[in-house]
Amino acid sequence: MSFTPDPAFEFDLLVIGAGSGGVRAARMAGQRGARVAVVESGPLGGTCVNVGCVPKKLYSYAAEFADAFEQSRGFGWQLAGTPRFDWATLKTNRALEITRLNGIYGNLLAGAGVELVRGHATLTGPHEATVNGRTLRAKHVLVATGGTPRVPDIPGRELVVTSNEMFDLPEFPQRLVVVGGGYIASEFASIFNGLGAQVTQLHRGEQLLTGFDGDVRRFIAAEMRKAGVDVRLGAQVASVARAGGALAVTLANGEVLPADTVLYATGRVPHTQGLGLEALGVALGDGGGIAVNADYRSSVPSIHAIGDVTARVQLTPVALAEGMVLVDHLFGPRAGKPRREMDYAFIPTAVFTHPNIGTVGFTEEQAREKFGQITVFRADFKALKHTLSGSGERTLMKLVVDAASDRVVGLHMVGAEAGEIVQGFAVALRAGATKAVFDSTIGIHPTAAEEFVTMREPVA
Ligand code: NDP
Repeated sequence: MSFTPDPAFEFDLLVIGAGSGGVRAARMAGQRGARVAVVESGPLGGTCVNVGCVPKKLYSYAAEFADAFEQSRGFGWQLAGTPRFDWATLKTNRALEITRLNGIYGNLLAGAGVELVRGHATLTGPHEATVNGRTLRAKHVLVATGGTPRVPDIPGRELVVTSNEMFDLPEFPQRLVVVGGGYIASEFASIFNGLGAQVTQLHRGEQLLTGFDGDVRRFIAAEMRKAGVDVRLGAQVASVARAGGALAVTLANGEVLPADTVLYATGRVPHTQGLGLEALGVALGDGGGIAVNADYRSSVPSIHAIGDVTARVQLTPVALAEGMVLVDHLFGPRAGKPRREMDYAFIPTAVFTHPNIGTVGFTEEQAREKFGQITVFRADFKALKHTLSGSGERTLMKLVVDAASDRVVGLHMVGAEAGEIVQGFAVALRAGATKAVFDSTIGIHPTAAEEFVTMREPVA
């Protein structure tokens, strides 16, 4: 054991929220010898496990079968009858799997000696919280309460759903209107389009996915339209109302869209309400998240925060990494290992649209601003599979190189398995690989990924 518990407190660490970040921090602290309690009122695993990454990816797989059935004909398959999708089966199987994962999270906490306290925690002091009348005192407190969807105040707001409800809609929506142009909106638009819904995606901006590389944004919008999503840009919703047994979405230009379900995916807000933070003087920062320093400490020194509640990078693997860095900081590093540090540079990310987006590093626009002189390499092609599949889907790959150092500072892909492919290249970018290193790397043939090491001619 590398850490000596403080006898002045019942617990060394009190974690509020058993999502990705909270569970990881609790487990690691428990393994380090700390006495840890985690408070959670909902199912274990937080947004990612219950209503985020995991069910989303399962539904994304479900949606991909539609293309697979269609495309199999070009490879000689004959399907007896038309494949039919059953929403109830997908929901049931997803729920079973998520329940299994909830159980695994519980076992992981128990295995690390962490006490799970069921209920809602209210902070009543810098070292103290109450849960169902019980007072828990801890030397360190970690707030890892995540975030919740934000729906703007439009007439008919009460009629729309958020990503929290999408996985369990009682009826499969034949007509789905998705509002938003970010990660969640674009992923759900693709998924429900694949599952057979008629999907209209309304985004207020000029192009989907603000902040992504310009070529990626144009390319994915074109691919999603090709796949059947009615992507409308510069579209503002005026109101949502009941219309017969369905809904009617009225746009600012007066057009009315009928819908069975209206999904609002217009961003998420940090979950800071009702925790007693204001009374303790815990300062909030930009975006309403808990403001923390480099050691995840809030303005109240004993209270820390990681993950979505800090309103910075809203990604599960970032919350996990932050949790581990915090535990090293509070309880010392693992035996024989250096203390972990968090580095926010070159965080890879994927958007599970159809086709997927994978990206790491600077967009062309950001790189031009930061490095001045850059070289861009780009390939836009039809994947080998689609020579027989009959699909018109195309793949985009792009490298952004700092001309002065030859370092590859941005790598972007739209295409099948982009997330899987970009994860590996993220290691190379973090290691500082130059374009010369990419060029000297032998490709794996025939793959789409090999294109990243065979791009010779820069874009003019
Ligand atoms: P995003 O911030 O990605 O997107 C929000 C979208 O809603 C933007 O298109 C934004 O437009 C639009 N919007 C915001 N306010 C309004 C409004 N009042 N009216 C109309 N449109 C509005 O948020 P998401 O909710 O999609 O996702 C939250 C975060 O969760 C992501 O940023 C990401 O970090 C994480 N996430 C990651 C995933 C992954 O890794 N695959 C999957 C899902 C979520 P504009 O661009 O004009 O501001």
